[in-house]
Amino acid sequence: MLRGKTALITGSTSGIGQGIAEAFAAKGCNVVLNGFGDPAEIELLRSRLAADHGVTVRYDNADMSKGDSITAMMDKAIAEFGCVDILVNNAGIQHVAPIDDFPIEKWEAVVAIDLMSSFYTIRRALQAMKANKWGRIINVASAHALVASPYKSAYVAAKHGVAGLTKTVALEVAEQGITVNAVCPGYVLTPLVEKQIPDTAKARGITEEQVIKDVLLAAQPTKQFVTVEQVASLCLFLASDDAASITGAIMPIEGGWTAH
Ligand code: NAD
Repeated sequence: MLRGKTALITGSTSGIGQGIAEAFAAKGCNVVLNGFGDPAEIELLRSRLAADHGVTVRYDNADMSKGDSITAMMDKAIAEFGCVDILVNNAGIQHVAPIDDFPIEKWEAVVAIDLMSSFYTIRRALQAMKANKWGRIINVASAHALVASPYKSAYVAAKHGVAGLTKTVALEVAEQGITVNAVCPGYVLTPLVEKQIPDTAKARGITEEQVIKDVLLAAQPTKQFVTVEQVASLCLFLASDDAASITGAIMPIEGGWTAH
C-alpha cells in the first residue's frame, strides 16, 4: 500500500525521475522533487502533481554533488514527513570522451552525482526507515552497471559502483523490512541521451543519425527505446509489498541489451 507514504526522488525535474515522481504521486504518495531547471517550470510541475493527485509535493534544490546539501535535504524531508519511506536515487549526469582526453573535473562530477550522492541519501534515509521497519530504496543505475561502452569511463565506473552499493546495503538491512534494488535502463530518450548524441558522434567519427541507429538502438535487441513510463512502473512494483522478497537485485530494463 503506497498511499500516504513519502517518496523522495533525486533528479526529478526532468526525464526518468520526473516520470517516477508522477507515478508515485498518482499512487497517493507525498513526493519530494529535486533537481535543477527553470524555477517557474519546476513550480508548475510541483503544483500540478499536488493538485492532480491530492498529495503534498515539495521541491528541494539540493545539489547532488555536495554531501552537505544532500544531508540538509534529507533532514528537511524527514522533519516534515517523519520518514522518507521510498528513496529513489535517480539524479545523474553523463560525459562522453576518450579516457586520455577526459577532463578530470567531469570525471569527478559524474562519480559524485551518479554514485557518491546515493551514499549520503541512503545513510540518512535508513535511520528513519529502520525505526519504521519498512523502507524501499531504488537506485536508478543503467545497463552500464552491467556492461561497458567506450568513451563512458566515468559513467560506467559510477554505475557499476551503484550496483555494488545496492547489493551491499541490501545485505546490511535485509532483516529490517527494507529492500534495496537497482533498475538498469537501456536507452531512454531524455535530455541526458539527447545531449550525448553529438559527443558520441564526435568521439566515434560518425553522424548523429548513425549514433541513434548503429550505437543506441543497435545495443538493444528490441530495437526500441525504453520509455520513462516503463521504468516508472518497475519502480512502483519494487516499492510495493508484492516485491518484499526482491532485494539486492540489479534489474535490467534494457530491451535485452545485457542478455548476450
Ligand atoms: P535527465 O538529464 O533528463 O535528468 C537528470 C536529472 O538529474 C534532472 O532532474 C537534473 O536536474 C538532475 N541533476 C543533474 N545534476 C544534478 C545535481 N548536481 N543535483 C541535483 N540534481 C541534478 O536524465 P535521465 O535520462 O532522466 O536520467 C535519470 C537517471 O537515469 C540518471 O541516473 C541516468 O544515469 C539514468 N539512466 C538514463 C538512461 C537514459 O537512456 N536516459 C539510461 C540508463 C540510466
